[in-house]
Amino acid sequence: MSAFTSLEIKQLSKKLEDQSPQQIIAWAIETFSPQIAVSSSFQTQSVPLLHMVSKIDPEMLIFFLDTGYHFWETLMFREQLQRELGLKIQNLYVDGQWKTFLSRFGRDLYEHDPDLCCYLRKVQPMQKAMKTVRAWISGIRRDQTATRQSAQILELEREGLIKINPLLNWTRQNVHEYIREYNLPSHPLYEKGYRSIGCKPCTRAVIVGEDERAGRWAGKEKTECGLHTEMFNQDGPKNSTLLQGFILTSNQEETR
Ligand code: SF4
Repeated sequence: MSAFTSLEIKQLSKKLEDQSPQQIIAWAIETFSPQIAVSSSFQTQSVPLLHMVSKIDPEMLIFFLDTGYHFWETLMFREQLQRELGLKIQNLYVDGQWKTFLSRFGRDLYEHDPDLCCYLRKVQPMQKAMKTVRAWISGIRRDQTATRQSAQILELEREGLIKINPLLNWTRQNVHEYIREYNLPSHPLYEKGYRSIGCKPCTRAVIVGEDERAGRWAGKEKTECGLHTEMFNQDGPKNSTLLQGFILTSNQEETR
């Protein structure tokens, strides 16, 4: 459980609104280290946070969700940043309990039930990893999506986990200025129009004038994977008829 009450988190969060990302990261490390980790998807917008963390606490653990669907450029970029910044990365994978389900439905699950796909490949592995720490540093920004506009610097998550969003008040321009200032690399697909990069089947390049996340789950209602929404605090994907049907059939087979 968190040592902070919900009210204390709200008050602290308000105080941190005026602090720089580096100051917020330093506060988080001083308060929670070593029970703290960063999550990263290793795209261009991840670079400033990874660079700051590597300077403030080179021992910090970085969680990467290896969904099995990443662009090879993302995996190469992860390796490049690991080498150049000396990052300590831990890959997270889908839980083995879903092996049978995914062998039957996993291949194009992102088409039929993307929320379930994200839950199994991203949300649940992250929930599991976060049980090993007290605090989670994420790189989300308010200017990225409508959902993220209401995010707070500090958020109280499931089981008392404290989520820290040090770059919340930054803009896309701040990200690029920081990358230029420190002469840091960009994801190889950035120049090809990929402004926000996730799994390959659910990401396309954007055209001029489009929102930077318009290429994520394009043509679907979905805009978030669930790590930064209420889905993270749920114990399973809501309303997945595919999964419910599978569980029902498995139970019937077991009782025969
Ligand atoms: S982004 Fe797409 S492929 Fe990746 S976990 Fe989510 S739905 Fe599945």
